[in-house]
Amino acid sequence: MPKSFYITTPIFYPNDRLHLGHAYAMVLVDIIVRYKKSQGYQVYLQTGSDEHGEKIEKKANLLGISPQELVDKNVLLFKQLWQELDVSEHTFYRTSSLVHKEKVQKIFTELLNKGDIYLGEYQGNYCVPCEDYVSDSKIADNNLCPTPNCQSELRKINESAYFLRVSRYYSQLVDHYQKNPNFLLPANAKKELFSNFLKENIPDLCITRSDIK
Ligand SMILES: [Zn+2]
Repeated sequence: MPKSFYITTPIFYPNDRLHLGHAYAMVLVDIIVRYKKSQGYQVYLQTGSDEHGEKIEKKANLLGISPQELVDKNVLLFKQLWQELDVSEHTFYRTSSLVHKEKVQKIFTELLNKGDIYLGEYQGNYCVPCEDYVSDSKIADNNLCPTPNCQSELRKINESAYFLRVSRYYSQLVDHYQKNPNFLLPANAKKELFSNFLKENIPDLCITRSDIK
């Protein structure tokens, strides 16, 4: 049996057409795919589109179409671009597809039943361009998003939301990374993970939004 190799790109965000940065990411991945194939690997390449969020809702409103119509239009352009760039054979997953929804519902329900997901109340800051919750500890006095290149005004939100109980797995995660030094590379990514995210008082992760379509 041939050795197998799995690789994925980020799932790109279809609020607009893609730009050179996305093409760059895909070309890098495609180079690895071709290299692995030349070594006799059976390669599975997965990419897709991340079809949710406030930026998409806002853009669709602006154009007077539904969010689904907007992403349908932009996803076609994504697929066309990968064809024009002659990207190797790949699977394209859309997060609005039925197969994706069913899988997410299945995993979500399992985690909910295990108590790894619970319903709570999110109060805090939200960055619309980043589609991300920002904890108070990461914000400077200016109340702007701390992500470099973003620096947008943050919004205060207060809503019911589901949380992933990451705190439960803190010691297990740290243990795993320490026992398997090559699990996560390059080393600076691991350093960033440990200094910014993996801390003793790691907060549970808010994983849902309820006030957008
Ligand atoms: Zn931001």
